[in-house]
Amino acid sequence: MKIMKFGGSSVANAENINKVIDIVLEQKINDIVIVVSALGGITDNLVMLANLASKPVCACGEKKKNEESKKLFESICERHDKVIGELIVSEKKMKVLKEISKKYGELEEIIKNISGKELSKQSLDAVMSFGELLSSFIISEVIRERGVPCEFVDSRDIIKTDNNFGNAEVDIKKSYQLISEYFSARGGSAFGGKNYLSVMGGFIASTKNGETTTLSRGGSDYTASLVGAAVDASVVEIWTDVDGLMTADPRKFKDAVLIPEISYEKAEEMALAGAKVIHPRTMKPAKLKNIIILIKNTFNPQALGTKIYNK
Ligand code: ASP
Ligand code: MG
Repeated sequence: MKIMKFGGSSVANAENINKVIDIVLEQKINDIVIVVSALGGITDNLVMLANLASKPVCACGEKKKNEESKKLFESICERHDKVIGELIVSEKKMKVLKEISKKYGELEEIIKNISGKELSKQSLDAVMSFGELLSSFIISEVIRERGVPCEFVDSRDIIKTDNNFGNAEVDIKKSYQLISEYFSARGGSAFGGKNYLSVMGGFIASTKNGETTTLSRGGSDYTASLVGAAVDASVVEIWTDVDGLMTADPRKFKDAVLIPEISYEKAEEMALAGAKVIHPRTMKPAKLKNIIILIKNTFNPQALGTKIYNK
């Protein structure tokens, strides 16, 4: 079984999502869990939306605030509708649009409930979670549209955390149990079964009471590593928009070069020091199970990338 995580820029629009699916379908093994981020920029938009809705009414008046909030909400929906419109052309389109508008309705309801109140971290998590909920649902539908069986997994059912909203601590034992139970029941080859393809959102989880939590910004990488460790994956691939970890920020240092391989410890150190390519929490679960993490570029898949392992 292998885990392939695709970040926001990799799934930013219909064209990129097609690239992602091409990459997945080209793999030699078909037993894959795909972890996706929100469409690029959507999480920031959702944060803005939550702040806008909760802001106490200012001198500009309730009406203007509501208009701004409505416009932003609609633009978020439009970006997702556009992807569906471009990538689902079969008779299933209406069904998918209906499903997705139910989810928009849920988001709208949450926005209504936080309106005018102080924004709690819990409400912000509930709003932000829609980025990954929408992207993972849409991508699973698009893969099926291509005639490939694929299942949508709600990450909140299999990743459990405490209630430290915004930066929740994962209950590793419980989550690994739920993750491995889930995938073994579906017969992934890691469990002696057949090929299996599924899509889940990164970043999002839930408390034992079912409240939605998030794993801190950029946390989808961590989700991929958790799932990989729980199912003893052969590899956790982090697909992004650069070739891999570099010796320095290439925008600031012209002589920065790609690092072809690096230890878990050094990679974690670099992530903590600000390397944006991988979330610092990603290394630990993979390291404990000795699973290779491979950073790859969706827009240059031939590049070898960076291999993070027990070097
Ligand atoms: N969508 C979330 C963020 O923008 C999580 C992620 O992409 O890893 O932070
Ligand atoms: Mg990232």
